[in-house]
Amino acid sequence: MRLLLVEDDPLLGDGLKLGLQAEGYTVDWLRDGKQALHALLSENFDLVVLDLGLPGMDGLEVLHEIRQRGVMAPVLILTARDAVSDRVGGLDQGADDYLTKPFDLEELSARLRSLLRRGRESATPLLEQGQVVVDPASREVTRSGEKINLSMKEFTVLRYLLEYQGKVVSRDRLEQALYGWDTEIESNALEVHIYKLRKKLGADFITTVRGVGYRVG
Ligand code: CA
Repeated sequence: MRLLLVEDDPLLGDGLKLGLQAEGYTVDWLRDGKQALHALLSENFDLVVLDLGLPGMDGLEVLHEIRQRGVMAPVLILTARDAVSDRVGGLDQGADDYLTKPFDLEELSARLRSLLRRGRESATPLLEQGQVVVDPASREVTRSGEKINLSMKEFTVLRYLLEYQGKVVSRDRLEQALYGWDTEIESNALEVHIYKLRKKLGADFITTVRGVGYRVG
């Protein structure tokens, strides 16, 4: 799950990034509204945590712009302003949920999980290839009806490959989905996840396309 965190307060941002990473999210953190707008229009995120008072561009404007341009990722707004008018304004602009500062990480995590569930339940059908079935809503994976346990990273790779079934997904794309922008990636980290997936799902489940990437189906 790739999450964009937009928060200009360095202490809060740092704490949130670490906390959300510990929950298993791939977290990219921006401190500026304009940069956030650019990132959201050019890349895919599963979730957005958006502060309202930001340099560059106000959070509500960012939200308005991305919704206008068809970015549908669930957005949770963080705000110190707990005035009713702000909440109503945010809802009008297409926010999915709110949290008023201060809040604790557990509360944020619970809200994010619920947003992901809601989004997936309404939008995402089961993904299937051969004997393997993936339920994006519950994150359950079965092979010939038997439950398979995958790590968060393995699940991310598998879901990505299945969403582009029959097409080659480049290494770069998979690595970005797994690690975001700024984490140092070990050169064989992706191979390790692919290796483990093949062990669990069958040696020929994922095809290597030399010099390009990987394909399922
Ligand atoms: Ca702020």
